[in-house]
Amino acid sequence: MTPPRPAPTPSRDSAFFWEGLNRDVLLGQRCSDCQRLRHPPRPMCPECRSIEWQAAELSGRGTLHAVVKPVHPPLPMFEPGYLVALIDLEEGIRLLSNLCEVELPDAKIGMAVEAFFVESESGDKLHQFRPIGDDLG
Ligand SMILES: [Zn+2]
Repeated sequence: MTPPRPAPTPSRDSAFFWEGLNRDVLLGQRCSDCQRLRHPPRPMCPECRSIEWQAAELSGRGTLHAVVKPVHPPLPMFEPGYLVALIDLEEGIRLLSNLCEVELPDAKIGMAVEAFFVESESGDKLHQFRPIGDDLG
């Protein structure tokens, strides 16, 4: 049996993101000055250099931008065959996650995906993605 995923390690900048996952909500950072969304979390807006921001709730829907199937080295906390994916969220930001419930030949760039949430070894949740039905088969 595969052990649970390692727990997240929040930083001061990313704590809000991990806290959102524990509520089954995907959050991005929205600049309070220019309104640009950004991810991964960081203290300053790359557009206008403001340090004022608010957490913005994201839909969790997007499309597959890129996917790889790591083989070596095998990691004890991941079941062999897992997929690492870059997801373009419909809000216009990109994030790194795992793509589940699909095998590599059927994981097509551009396919519609949605977020779901799983528990890590600490009980804190992690985000994962899976295809949205219509793009399968
Ligand atoms: Zn800004």
